Amino acid sequence: MSDPVTQRPLAGVIGFPVAHSRSPQIQNAALRACGLDWLYVKLPVAAELFAPVVGALSGSGYRGANVTIPHKVSALECASRATEAALAVGAANSLTFEDGEIVADNTDAGGLLDALRPCSAHGRRCCVLGAGGAARAAVFALRSDGAGEVVVSNRTPERATALAREFGVQSRAGPGDCDLLVNATSVGLDPAVDARLCLDQLGLTEVAVPEVVVDLVYRDGETPVCAWAREAGATIVDGLEVLVGQGARSFESWTGVPAPREVMREAALAPA
Ligand code: NAP
Repeated sequence: MSDPVTQRPLAGVIGFPVAHSRSPQIQNAALRACGLDWLYVKLPVAAELFAPVVGALSGSGYRGANVTIPHKVSALECASRATEAALAVGAANSLTFEDGEIVADNTDAGGLLDALRPCSAHGRRCCVLGAGGAARAAVFALRSDGAGEVVVSNRTPERATALAREFGVQSRAGPGDCDLLVNATSVGLDPAVDARLCLDQLGLTEVAVPEVVVDLVYRDGETPVCAWAREAGATIVDGLEVLVGQGARSFESWTGVPAPREVMREAALAPA
């Protein structure tokens, strides 16, 4: 099915707010590069309207949607089917509409695995900072990648303990010693906050820089965590690379076409 007016297949990103999302520039560049005459749009949808809007999209020419804050848990709840990753993480960031079904997936976890491929987590002592949705996806991804150990640390320690218990990993106060660190908090998102303060908030001024540092946060310019890692010569996986990975996996689910990752990476880096 396609848009009844333009006849173009549609896809979009649902969030609230969604104005900041880079997904349209990434997905539209990929669609163009593959010669697909689709349109990918921003869909600002308030929480109380999420379920009815998703139900309507699936019958209105939409083939798929990315889902962002605050809808990732609702996206799993309103699906008729879910992938193993979405069920394990407990949240979905990608919906595919096919044959009257709404299929929920968590491509944030897969996107992290794709971005980590050159420096796998296999056998490494990993630490995840944060206990929200991104941290859940990161813990799932690191365990799937054969991490030697996964430890969760969070500003609100009770949340880290609960997450760790759910996933059968450890929790501790502060990042401690590790080989691979994932910043899955929102610290560093706001360029107005001093970089040193960000590192203090994460407890990173007190620890050695690990071999591999992943910062899920992305923004224009380098984040404080990436700068900290770069100055020490660590291998850096930045949030834009993970964003490209999750977007590529969604693109492939909707279109059945291999995603042009290089095109998507360039589009992600272009000024918003
Ligand atoms: P979330 O559910 O709101 O969780 C935010 C986390 O950050 C919580 O653990 C929170 O700790 C912690 N935090 C917030 N402010 C803090 C501070 N000042 N000091 C220490 N910890 C603080 O958000 P999310 O959905 O997990 O997303 C987290 C980040 O990942 C966001 O920046 C998001 O944009 C990014 N992300 C990127 C990608 C990608 O593709 N690159 C994908 C998904 C998410 P408390 O529990 O104590 O509040």
